[in-house]
Amino acid sequence: MTQVLPEVYLDYSDILIRPKMGINLNSRRDVNLQRVFKFRHGCVRTGLGVFNANMATVGNFDVAKKLLARGMFATLHKHYSTDEIGQFLQNANVPLDNLFITIGLKDIDADIQKLHALESKYGWTKSQNICIDAPNFYIPRALEILARVRREFPNSVIMAGNIASPDICMKMLDFADIIKCGIGSGSACLTRRQTGCGVPMVSLILECADVAHSVGGHICADGGIVDVGDICKAFCLNSDFVMAGGLFAGTDAAAGEVYERQFETTEIVNGAHVIETKQFKQYYGMSSVYANNKFAGGMQDYKTSEGRELMIPYTGAIDNVLQDITGGIASCCTYIGAASVKHMSKCATIIQVHNQLNRVFEKYSV
Ligand code: 5GP
Repeated sequence: MTQVLPEVYLDYSDILIRPKMGINLNSRRDVNLQRVFKFRHGCVRTGLGVFNANMATVGNFDVAKKLLARGMFATLHKHYSTDEIGQFLQNANVPLDNLFITIGLKDIDADIQKLHALESKYGWTKSQNICIDAPNFYIPRALEILARVRREFPNSVIMAGNIASPDICMKMLDFADIIKCGIGSGSACLTRRQTGCGVPMVSLILECADVAHSVGGHICADGGIVDVGDICKAFCLNSDFVMAGGLFAGTDAAAGEVYERQFETTEIVNGAHVIETKQFKQYYGMSSVYANNKFAGGMQDYKTSEGRELMIPYTGAIDNVLQDITGGIASCCTYIGAASVKHMSKCATIIQVHNQLNRVFEKYSV
């Protein structure tokens, strides 16, 4: 018989972190935002566990460079050529220890060749990092490919996903170091509408972190970050890493032009409506019609689009977003008495709420 599980699964908007007395932290400056990650397959990395999504719009060189320069982690999307990535590796002028090169499932032979070419021509080494990207890691081929990539690159940090249940985590951790969790949460995602599938992020993080941590694995909560507070929540829930796309997509560093559009306001001057100009940037899901046309020669007739193409407000310098991230996380730590990001999950008490934000004047924001 089909069952409906009685437990209600929670999302970021269903919870808050309760402030509480803890150790004395007088300033946000005293918080240690860097964490040492000892991975299951042997590597060690240090940084603040925030990634840009490996999407064409935000998995670009400019965004990656900015995150790396701030001591965070970064991915590069899989549509860059070997030479483009090679040039970046040689000229980036930032630490590249925390950079992940993305490969897909579609043409794994070519992708493995690409990694070998990066190694022989551009000094990438097999002890660097690989992200294996599949919208749906439940297809059997995904696990086979993960096992193959681990055989070819025994000393790399391998992040693989996406998944949305704990049952597959153990199998993946035979080969992967980090499991990317999240299906249907993304801001440019249509999976839940088109397939009815998905799991809210809070419950998903709890379930997957529990399994992964029991064997020394790590998880990355991918998608659904609306505000920096959601990153804080993910860390408090015991996610090791967080990946965000939409948060960076409106910034100057994201790929693409800034578009201007004019709107008629309700204000009237000399008998005419005042015209306001607003700026936008394009953000699209990697399964959108737009992405399929751009990277896969069109939408195949057996598929449906599971991603949106959007024009989102231009938000200016990415540095402001990055400062919000570091500032927000540090401030969260002072509210809960956590001396470092590593301690957030130990210090946090999470409460379930019906209303997490006061939105009364939101539409008047300037
Ligand atoms: P965001 O931070 O914008 O909420 O979510 C970013 C994440 O959405 C990505 O890292 C990826 O996992 C997911 N994503 C990107 N493109 C698509 C898409 O076209 N369809 C779906 N279902 N998910 C997508």
